Amino acid sequence: MNLSAKRLTLVWSLVVMLIASLGVATGQPVATADTGDKASFTSVAPPTTVSMSIDVLGTSLTENSLELSVTGSSRSYLVPMFGADYGLTTQVLCDPGTLTITASAPQKLEVTLMVSFLDEEGLVLATYEDTLRMSPTIAQTPEQPATPAPQPVVEQPKAPVLLPATAFTPTISGSLIVTQKLTASANLPSGWKVSGYQWFRGSAAIAGATASTYIVTAKDVNLTLSVRVIATRDGYKDGVGTSAATSKVAWNYLVSVDKTKLLSKHYTVGRTSKIDKIVIHHNAGNLSIDQVYNVWQTREASAHYQVQSDGKVGRLVADGNTAWHAGNWQANVTSIGIEHANNTGKAPWTISDSAIDSGGRLVAELSIYYGLGRPTWMKTVYPHSYFSSTSCPGELSKSQQAQYMARAQYWYDQLIAGA
Ligand SMILES: [Zn+2]
Repeated sequence: MNLSAKRLTLVWSLVVMLIASLGVATGQPVATADTGDKASFTSVAPPTTVSMSIDVLGTSLTENSLELSVTGSSRSYLVPMFGADYGLTTQVLCDPGTLTITASAPQKLEVTLMVSFLDEEGLVLATYEDTLRMSPTIAQTPEQPATPAPQPVVEQPKAPVLLPATAFTPTISGSLIVTQKLTASANLPSGWKVSGYQWFRGSAAIAGATASTYIVTAKDVNLTLSVRVIATRDGYKDGVGTSAATSKVAWNYLVSVDKTKLLSKHYTVGRTSKIDKIVIHHNAGNLSIDQVYNVWQTREASAHYQVQSDGKVGRLVADGNTAWHAGNWQANVTSIGIEHANNTGKAPWTISDSAIDSGGRLVAELSIYYGLGRPTWMKTVYPHSYFSSTSCPGELSKSQQAQYMARAQYWYDQLIAGA
């Protein structure tokens, strides 16, 4: 992804947490940044390489402001600031350079900043955090008496310690199949609670995928998924845990069928080319889904779908795999193969109206899913006989071809209009 070519609005989310306070009773407290005026942020599992840093400018923990220098690759930033002690709860747009945060608690000496880059859609691209420690400089009073009067011992308020987050690793359960739901388990240690989820497709955050569950979509095909969980606990820095990436989502189960009975042989796992056509066949017999399955146990052939004479549709090979149906390897790797039962046991090999209707609807659904456009004969829908010397698909390429394509186009139009 070419970030620089894209007009990005980077959003900085700045969480200011105040850790320690200075309860000095004498002198004028002037807080200054100590060593490490320039604190580079530590990347916390950034999904995308974004360079950034944040510097504390000068001394600048003055009475009412904390002055920061922000650098990045964008011209503007949106900075949501949070922090109960500072009362910073609004989002602020600022340019790279100096950002002055108006604070109401100047004596605080240690701030933990969490900055997130978000893209223009508001998706978190990367999160960084660092702690900046300020050392106070106490102006000495020159006219200090040689023997100062005994000072009462003032009990200093104990500074709360912000502990490092406990490591955790979320996991993902569910089927890596388009339309199926995945569920993230944060696997948090005791005492922690989830404050947010973000799902990733490959290395990119998925727009709007910020719930504990995620429905696998066609966009995920051939890519891995992962989920990042942000967890919180009082007294601790926020925890960030990222799951392992799943295996790649398969091209599978894209249309609804009446029965799934997947072959374990006589097809090739995966594909080497994009699907750009549908090839139609007939059984040369009036076979059920089970009978076709049985035939292909011994015959070295297969197709993705079988349409029975009663109109029921069976899936025998997943779309993402290459079925052996066209008698032509290039056609096999670029097509979905649909078998249709004949309602006669001999020539002419006709097809029932129910099978034509179901087959036509299946063609329409596949055409929509794979972006083939309106089903068109010899452009996106081909007879087996186009690729091999065969009489298949019988009357589907002859007397019933127009009826079949009319149903495919009817369903395509219906489904598109209903979408
Ligand atoms: Zn055929």
